[in-house]
Amino acid sequence: MRIIPLFEKELEQTVIQRLSDSYGDNQVYMKRDDGIPYSFGGNKARKAAEFYRDIKRTEADTIMTYGSNSSNHCRIIANMAAGMGLACHIISPEENREILNNTKLVRDFGAVIETCPVTEVAATIENRKAAYEQTGRHPYFIAGGGHGNQGTEAYVKAYREIEEYERRNDLYFDYIFHASGTGSTQAGLVCGSLRSGNAGRKIVGISIAREEARGREVVKGSIRDYLGADFAGLYREESLIFTDAYRCGGYGKYTDGIKQTIASVMHREGIAMDTTYVGKAFHGMLQYLKEKGIQDRKILFIHTGGAPLFFDALERA
Ligand SMILES: *Cc1c(COP(=O)(O)O)cnc(C)c1O
Repeated sequence: MRIIPLFEKELEQTVIQRLSDSYGDNQVYMKRDDGIPYSFGGNKARKAAEFYRDIKRTEADTIMTYGSNSSNHCRIIANMAAGMGLACHIISPEENREILNNTKLVRDFGAVIETCPVTEVAATIENRKAAYEQTGRHPYFIAGGGHGNQGTEAYVKAYREIEEYERRNDLYFDYIFHASGTGSTQAGLVCGSLRSGNAGRKIVGISIAREEARGREVVKGSIRDYLGADFAGLYREESLIFTDAYRCGGYGKYTDGIKQTIASVMHREGIAMDTTYVGKAFHGMLQYLKEKGIQDRKILFIHTGGAPLFFDALERA
């Protein structure tokens, strides 16, 4: 197994920057996890760094994971497997056939892409894994989106970076907003805040796909998995804010309002956002602040990446 030097040590803190005054009476800051210097960055790069360390402890020769044609996670895992000199096998739902930038990159990294009906994904993963094991191979499986304790750990670390920034700059973020999908980004941030006893701060996950009841349950499950025995003592229902009010009908769906927000952030700040995750969540955050009458607060938005999706949209325009 080859090493990836960047992942051999802890990642450097990502930049937190203040944005312009274009967003009402609040001071909005952005944490640039899209700037993580690996495979176009994003939260999947932060999670991959944690999986990397775990894979290194095993004798894995093949990384298996799951994701759609637009998956940032699959791009980064396929890239990491290529860098480590490991095989990569990706199971993908056949319903999404469009060849997108992430699809092409996964292919260029030499991953095997196996498609199957979305209802057969779980069974296909099991079968494929068993087949590898039977031939003496050692597959290492990563859940879709980098879900799991390593993914959560990645955002516990991001939370510590945020606190470190606050200490150094003598300020306090009243709110942290971000796009919430599989939920491990949110689980990590919430675990970080519960562990540091800073539970007064509101961490708001803007759902980009899931309905509230299911989305909450999954994030809560990840928090429980990560905290283990500490869960009962630390967890409060009010520390988990997950809203589906801005999901616009589900995964990948977006409105003209979202497109306008993306264009204006690009013009004002020079920051690119995609319609599936980051632009949708940023737009949702602005609506949330307005609807709840939130003013004169310091707000941190986490840019979770997705650059290839930005270019998908650009190529379509
Ligand atoms: C996967 C992803 C998310 C959602 O993160 P989860 O940890 O799955 O909730 C947000 N933004 C981007 C760009 C992503 O690729």
